[in-house]
Amino acid sequence: MQTLEYANSELNKYYAKVVGGACGIRLKNAASGHPFDDRITIDVEKGKGTIEGSNERAVLIGVYKFFYELGCRFVRPGKDGEILVRRSAENCNVKKTYAPKCRYRGICSEGAISEENVTEMVEWLPKIGMNSYFLQFVDGHLFFEKWYRHKESSSLPPEPYSVAASRRHYADAVEAIKRCGLIFQSVGHGWTTEPLGYVTYGDTCSRDEDIQPRHRPLFALKDGRRGFFDDKPGDTQLCYSNSEARAAVTDGIVAYLRSHPETDMLHFWLADGINNHCECEACKKRLPSEWYVTMLNELDKKLTKERIDTKIVFLIYCDLLFAPRDVTLENSDRFVMMYAPIARNYFQTLYTDENFAAAVSAPPYVRNRNRHPQTGGEYLYYLQEWQKKIRCDSFVFDYHLMTFPYGGEPSFTKISRILYEDMGALEKAGMNGNVSCQLQRIFLPTPLPTYVMAERLFGSNRSFEKIETECLGAAFGEQSGKITEFLHKAEKFYLAACMRGETAAGRADVVEKYEQLLESARAGLSFTDENKTVDRSLKNLEYFIEMQRLFAAALKRKASGENNDEEKRALFRFLDERELSVQPYEDTLFRKEGLKSWI
Ligand SMILES: [Zn+2]
Repeated sequence: MQTLEYANSELNKYYAKVVGGACGIRLKNAASGHPFDDRITIDVEKGKGTIEGSNERAVLIGVYKFFYELGCRFVRPGKDGEILVRRSAENCNVKKTYAPKCRYRGICSEGAISEENVTEMVEWLPKIGMNSYFLQFVDGHLFFEKWYRHKESSSLPPEPYSVAASRRHYADAVEAIKRCGLIFQSVGHGWTTEPLGYVTYGDTCSRDEDIQPRHRPLFALKDGRRGFFDDKPGDTQLCYSNSEARAAVTDGIVAYLRSHPETDMLHFWLADGINNHCECEACKKRLPSEWYVTMLNELDKKLTKERIDTKIVFLIYCDLLFAPRDVTLENSDRFVMMYAPIARNYFQTLYTDENFAAAVSAPPYVRNRNRHPQTGGEYLYYLQEWQKKIRCDSFVFDYHLMTFPYGGEPSFTKISRILYEDMGALEKAGMNGNVSCQLQRIFLPTPLPTYVMAERLFGSNRSFEKIETECLGAAFGEQSGKITEFLHKAEKFYLAACMRGETAAGRADVVEKYEQLLESARAGLSFTDENKTVDRSLKNLEYFIEMQRLFAAALKRKASGENNDEEKRALFRFLDERELSVQPYEDTLFRKEGLKSWI
């Protein structure tokens, strides 16, 4: 189904529910401007008029904005994720134009995911004004198999699951992305191994002994040998001074794009990890970033020759944070620079005036002896050094919603505040948006973090409190006031010095107070059948409170110096046995990892 056709079907579907009767609104694709920029004009009076977008995706986003302006809210993916109002045609009056602040407003697949999880996320994104989806790796098997094999579950037996099944699920996800007209981004890591025929990730990934003798000279020389770094193909660099190695990578990308014309933006990343670059004499003469930019230029020439105009995204992080000195992009229109501050602190916003003021120096590159930046100032310094050398389109790839919400501050309030500040300051950092590398199921206890991110990338200047009130008000209905208060108190508990590991003293007392808070929150919840979306939110919150109660019991025992094996067993049994009841909203595999970090 084409996006405009889908936009029409969505318009008619929601119009029937919200207004009823024949819909007198016409959709129009102006087909103007940069293909990734969304401009929307809504001109509807008494239920009649037009919704115009600068492209088909913008038209679809415009349809949802129209219903938003009428009072509808789209709080999370899937069914029971929206609040719809009733309006008479007489009262359907919306005259508005939108020009989102950031060009790139996307989500990247991470965590354990089913096909439905991806499709529902993709369909939700335009409802909250987002415009891009990034399916990581060539088949997404690493993420799909985590769900379908039910990794680490004591309750769900693993399902038989193959790479072929991942490919089918991946193709279905691409179909949904295209139907919604989202900017489709793909791949990332794997180019240093897949073109040579090795499997990078998952249960069937290649081992060092699988390396063919003729390929061994192509791999990076590390500690006197060439092969898989730490026996991990995904963390293995090549010997980039070797033109044959570089050609294997760039030829692999050209071949991929020849058979994947649906790709809007292809990510060409080197290997994952840090301090894993080649130590041969020729490689040592240049920085990893200089070999990288050399390859980007070589790739561009090959793609131009093939008349392939796909945008190439290159990644600056880890050893590639250090900007090139003597080489630059020859055709910067081809490329989009992606900055990933992967080891940053999520308790603090990154783009503060203090951090910009401190961005005056940082340690220089030392081959295979680097550490991640220690401060926000260092992170911004490295970014600015790149920006001085290379001018091209760019966005941030950030990890607010990976491990932090479960292992840092599980009420989700703190990370929502951080997202509010970070997303609002991207322009100041010279970045044109954010693609969030995140768990797909991160809606419990609330959907607030992703909601705030979307609002700010779109350009909302409303206060954090206003956005929070809107999101939680829609999700929890009449009980949202007391629930917001509970979540703020839970945030305070997690931000206490003893919970952040800054001091060991006083944890047992703090946990006891948290237990009392959980008890009163649970007693205060009432299930009123207000509507299905509110009911779903309340069930998710009830689940959260019960999990936190079991967690607090284990934590208190530990804080008192007692054995907590029994409490831990009860907690993880609860999570495993109840997993399916919250599957679309909660990534249990990652939740358990987060909880384990405390108990
Ligand atoms: Zn080398």
